[in-house]
Amino acid sequence: MSDPVADPLADPSADSCADPLAPCPESASSGATLGATALVGGDQGAVPALALENSFTRLPGEFYTRLLPTPLADPYLVGASAMAARLIGLDVETLAQPQVLAVFAGNAPLPGGEPHAAVYSGHQFGVWAGQLGDGRAITLGEARHEADRWEIQLKGAGLTPYSRMGDGRAVLRSSIREFLCSEAMAALGVPTTRALCVIGSPAPVVRETVETAAVVTRLAPSFVRFGSFEHWYHRDRPEALALLADHVIAGHYPEIDRGPGRYRALLEAVVLRTARLVAHWQALGFCHGVMNTDNMSILGLTLDYGPFGFMEAFDAGHICNHSDDAGRYAYARQPQVAHWNLYALGQALVPLIGSVEETRAALEPFEGAFEAAMAEHLGRKLGLAAPTGPGDAPLVDGLFALLQQNHADFTLFFRRLCDLKQADPKADGPLRDLFLEPAAFDAWAALYRARLAQDGGEDAGRQARMRAVNPRYVLRNYLAEVAIQHARNQDFSELAKLQKVLERPYDEQPENAAYAAPAPEWAAGLEVSCSS
Ligand code: AMP
Ligand code: MG
Repeated sequence: MSDPVADPLADPSADSCADPLAPCPESASSGATLGATALVGGDQGAVPALALENSFTRLPGEFYTRLLPTPLADPYLVGASAMAARLIGLDVETLAQPQVLAVFAGNAPLPGGEPHAAVYSGHQFGVWAGQLGDGRAITLGEARHEADRWEIQLKGAGLTPYSRMGDGRAVLRSSIREFLCSEAMAALGVPTTRALCVIGSPAPVVRETVETAAVVTRLAPSFVRFGSFEHWYHRDRPEALALLADHVIAGHYPEIDRGPGRYRALLEAVVLRTARLVAHWQALGFCHGVMNTDNMSILGLTLDYGPFGFMEAFDAGHICNHSDDAGRYAYARQPQVAHWNLYALGQALVPLIGSVEETRAALEPFEGAFEAAMAEHLGRKLGLAAPTGPGDAPLVDGLFALLQQNHADFTLFFRRLCDLKQADPKADGPLRDLFLEPAAFDAWAALYRARLAQDGGEDAGRQARMRAVNPRYVLRNYLAEVAIQHARNQDFSELAKLQKVLERPYDEQPENAAYAAPAPEWAAGLEVSCSS
């Protein structure tokens, strides 16, 4: 594997994107019988709030393929997010109606929509992978609600010209994970694509074992990725690059001046958003798992939830993706990888920006922006009056060394730290219990108390501020697994319950304390991989 922090600008990789498009299986069918709800297709009055617009399909046809989702057999509602529904002005209750369900199963059109799959390319695990594209995602169009526009995309909606060896489907397990985590991240305040609902089907889907199909409806202002730009760069198509960049700027970066410096400004803006995004991930112990350039949002959103994980026992080298043998996407490497991915984006934008020097200059602020965002998160997480500074290095480095040595639960540590009383070390019990070496914790806690004393202030105010940034509830893998197991038996109550808990991650919710617990023993062997 190549060095993940290698600078692609220094060594422009050979263009290996020769994959020809597979023939378009426009009329591909799962072969299974359609449920009665599919018959409702074409009912233009079914979801009147959602008359769609289309800005992406105003781009030339080579950017996408227009096609319909493959109908999903016997669809049933697995879960729905009221928070996401509100974004597009939809009443979540309506999702239970067969004609609405049919829309999000891919069995009925929405008025005005121009369903399509987009083409993109990308670097996977540091290696140029050539053309990829929406192999199983179909965007229906854009819903406008109040001042916002949301693309509505069905993931797992059947074959597209970009499916390569895939079957165009997603399984129930991975769809539930994406659904839960998208909405959990939003509730945590992390920029992310959203998930409106999951719709299941008895249709079999073959992975390591035979599972069943599901479609997750995702919402985002745009699903354009770094890889969307790399695609045209590696095909030596600067005019297509410019069209795409102008589309992104016009629709999503209104603050960028339309003058000749706009492409550099776009890169600078993406650099800043990405740096802040990854700092937020680090601050929450979130590991993405597959930070390939095709999974990096041009809007700085968390995108493409696969083998992600919230770190439990702290380990800087934690690898959440079982398929990531070399640990390229380990927790501590995420910032470097993000920077590497931005270099890949920068390289793709060189023809628009005009020079390698200017491109490098646009990429340069990454580290500073990441460090500043990290210092801000750490200052808040520790309840300090300001971001952590150079003088706090012993406190911060000491903390991470302590967490590492003791494999303390990351989320529980920061949450219990909120309870710390400055004048009462004897009350540290539950926090201290997270450490195998209590004396080492005591030494760090003394340092911490001395630092808090410098700021002055009362316990209560600091504790309240800390509880607003250190979540009690995150989507631990085992929690998702329990919800998935119930859903496989057609019991969706556990999923709905977990979803509700994760909607308020910073609230104490004493009645839901069980959801804050670290993984029980049975979950020790749980693994998540790229298979989805
Ligand atoms: P991912 O690892 O999920 O980001 O996917 C990488 C590429 O593989 C993207 O182009 C996906 O659309 C495609 N892909 C993943 N799974 C499937 C599938 N089951 N069918 C078709 N394409 C897929
Ligand atoms: Mg992807």
